[in-house]
Amino acid sequence: MLQDYQLLRIPGPTPIPPSVERAMAKPMIGHRGNETSLMIQNIKPRLKKVFGTTQDVMMLTGSGTSGLEAAIVNVVKPGDKVLVVATGVFGNRFTKICEAYQINVEEYKVEWGTSLNPAEIAEYVKANPDIKAVFSTYCETSTGVLNPVGKLAQAVHAVNDETLVIIDGVSCMAGVETKMDEWGIDVVVTGSQKAFMLPAGLNFIAVSERAWKVIESNPKKGFYLDLTKYRDNLAKDTTPFTPALSLLFGLEQTLENFEQEGLENVYARHQLMRDMTRAAFKALNLPLFASDEDGSPTVTSVKPDDFDPEAFRKVLKADFNLSIAGGQQTLKGKIFRVGHMGYCAPTDVLQYVAAMEIALVKVGKDIQLGAGVAAAQAVYLQNTTEKVAQ
Ligand SMILES: *Cc1c(COP(=O)(O)O)cnc(C)c1O
Repeated sequence: MLQDYQLLRIPGPTPIPPSVERAMAKPMIGHRGNETSLMIQNIKPRLKKVFGTTQDVMMLTGSGTSGLEAAIVNVVKPGDKVLVVATGVFGNRFTKICEAYQINVEEYKVEWGTSLNPAEIAEYVKANPDIKAVFSTYCETSTGVLNPVGKLAQAVHAVNDETLVIIDGVSCMAGVETKMDEWGIDVVVTGSQKAFMLPAGLNFIAVSERAWKVIESNPKKGFYLDLTKYRDNLAKDTTPFTPALSLLFGLEQTLENFEQEGLENVYARHQLMRDMTRAAFKALNLPLFASDEDGSPTVTSVKPDDFDPEAFRKVLKADFNLSIAGGQQTLKGKIFRVGHMGYCAPTDVLQYVAAMEIALVKVGKDIQLGAGVAAAQAVYLQNTTEKVAQ
């Protein structure tokens, strides 16, 4: 009966709005025709706003990781030394991709659950002037931490203007503001299946002038991932290879939806969902894994000390078909993570908190039913009373 009833609250893939689903069901069109070019023309300026850049944002077919790999093969020349600031699983991924290309990679490890310290990284770059590029993660999805990547870029460039700063923004962009140009970030990568409310399969990459110079002088950029091909074709409103047209239909609609809501309102909604979720978890004595300062507007993680997070997740799935995520790698079995991004509203927060309270009782945690929901409601009211009074 309830086969279609999916409460998907993992940090990606995320639910897809009906308007986007409808857009993706449109009949196929020719990828070299005028209709496709018009669609790309329509997408281009709107994507730039999400990135906070005047650069064209390239669109590649592939999941987020292919975008990370593209960033690496394009900006890192053979023999270059790079630094990966690893705040969790996705920081590690940069290291692994670099290793797969025999790149000379150093890892700056940050304790999982905390954010990177821009001044420390800048010191490290200053002491190691042979580091050509610094890689880091905007929202570290595995821990629920939002890293201060703008401050990182500014701090690194203050000590060495040549060092490139490359950011994985997959799990937060379009949910939190990104000011690529103002912050001086050199390469920003994001994917379609998180706050962009689309299925997996597209990734978006923007590159600074400084990074284009490096890319142009790089003799080994791969073939499919060579970003100069995407740049040159995009200038002519086309793509070097067959684009994932159905996903582009959906993207066009997503960007239209962002425009209707207003990007600032989209970001404010994510902030509110974060604050409601955190207040609810505090009221239920659930230990938050990231601090108030570091907690991401798109994903919240909890490290319980008096029940098994896997048993908790099982109850949510069995009773409500509500999916939340567990921990990855060293955090496996130790934390749970709830995604609140993309097609997600404050009422969804009230819903998952209410369901979680029931599941908490079922796994034996001593709580007062309704305490989490009441705390989330209070945060909602604090943030919206002005609007109510009008
Ligand atoms: C989801 C995610 C990715 C992309 O993973 P894919 O499975 O390749 O789409 C990359 N980085 C971060 C931070 C993510 O959350």
